[in-house]
Amino acid sequence: MIEQHDPKTSPVACPRCDWLGSIDQAGDESRCPECGTIVCPLRQKGLDSLRAHHRQLLKMGYKVEWTLEQRAAEQERVERFFQRIGQPLRGDQNRDRA
Ligand SMILES: [Zn+2]
Repeated sequence: MIEQHDPKTSPVACPRCDWLGSIDQAGDESRCPECGTIVCPLRQKGLDSLRAHHRQLLKMGYKVEWTLEQRAAEQERVERFFQRIGQPLRGDQNRDRA
């Protein structure tokens, strides 16, 4: 199945400011729209750790220094990102079709 090469759904992340998006948002030079750093492609492992991060945000022992608002904003940010790249946020870590 060829699906990873659509720029609108190819996930990238900024190594500097943690911006998340798709490669088409980063433009021709693949730079972060927030800080201008060259973005890195996010592979399966990166997506899985973001999923784990999102799950952990619901738990109290994680990021204890964050306020509820910060947690909610971060969850939303991760949710929006997964929506944009057209990938499920939950429950398919074991599905291996790549
Ligand atoms: Zn950035």
